[in-house]
Amino acid sequence: MCIFCDIADKKIPSDVIFEDDAVMAFSNIEPKSPVHILVIPKRHIDSTKTLKEEDEELVGKLVLAARNIAKEKGISESGYRLILNTGRDAGQTVDHLHLHLMGGEKLPFA
Ligand code: 5GP
Ligand code: ZN
Repeated sequence: MCIFCDIADKKIPSDVIFEDDAVMAFSNIEPKSPVHILVIPKRHIDSTKTLKEEDEELVGKLVLAARNIAKEKGISESGYRLILNTGRDAGQTVDHLHLHLMGGEKLPFA
């Protein structure tokens, strides 16, 4: 188990933005932009490194959930960034796959 598994299981409280049977989205506890939401699979996957072929649909669900949330948050037109950090050099600190949805301001170049 990990901290994001505990959030998905509601053992650790979070500000839930969206959830269905496979995906959950919640506000980042330390936002780095006005909108900074994390979208995770409820099932534990370490990172993109350990994705399997059968996870293809699940990854699509993460991206579509993020797209829908961006629209609900009113940043579809101004733009947003979806980030999947993988491993230490990318700054991945939680080893449970998560998509960062960031926007609400002009983001620095990445
Ligand atoms: P990473 O650096 O692994 O790509 O992103 C992990 C993110 O999870 C960080 O931006 C951090 O602020 C966020 N985070 C870590 N622990 C918690 C937590 O307990 N609750 C919430 N909502 N976000 C967390
Ligand atoms: Zn986990």
